[in-house]
Amino acid sequence: MGLTEYEKIKNEIGQNVALMAVSKTKTARDILPFLQAGQRLFGENRVEEATEKWTTLKQEYPDVELHLIGHLQKNKIKEALKIFDGIDTLDNFELAEKITAELAKNPRKIKFMIEVNTGDEEQKSGISTAKADEFINYCIRDVKLNVTGLMCIPPQEDEPAPHFAFLGEIAKKHGLKELSMGMSNDYLLAVQQGATIVRIGTLLFGKRE
Ligand SMILES: *Cc1c(COP(=O)(O)O)cnc(C)c1O
Repeated sequence: MGLTEYEKIKNEIGQNVALMAVSKTKTARDILPFLQAGQRLFGENRVEEATEKWTTLKQEYPDVELHLIGHLQKNKIKEALKIFDGIDTLDNFELAEKITAELAKNPRKIKFMIEVNTGDEEQKSGISTAKADEFINYCIRDVKLNVTGLMCIPPQEDEPAPHFAFLGEIAKKHGLKELSMGMSNDYLLAVQQGATIVRIGTLLFGKRE
């Protein structure tokens, strides 16, 4: 973990892949060294936690791009759209509709990614593989959200590569550029499969409690 690991990962993934530093559960003090080293893309999985930590940090580092990578509950939409620059877990029609309504009231430029449940796991968020095409079309054509790409978290017990490849196929079909896939354990595999963003927590910040 730490800045040495950070530089190593950046070299491994190369300049065409973005490194998202996943700072969930970590404090401003843990995050600061990475900000000072020039890191600007961060991921958090909870709205309240992100608001508490990042309201001040974003004032100090206004060019930070903060993304929500955890499930978004409908009652947190308003708050989420205030603090996040990207919502990477768009995964159901009602959520997309409510976000659109909120943005109509309080416009802000936000990037969206659609999370696909590539393993169709019951307990996991993400749009099902059967509904993915319809949902992507809905977000892009009907409600016209600024969708930049897709994200996934493969099932723990599966080989991740086929899931990454599958996500890439869906993105290609819809002309979407960004693929957010790969975490501490499998980011190199994800890059081989075309990831444009990898999400790394543990390798940078150490284990979470
Ligand atoms: C926590 C988390 C990560 C980072 O996982 P590590 O294994 O710690 O690198 C990436 N993506 C999502 C969606 C997460 O919730």
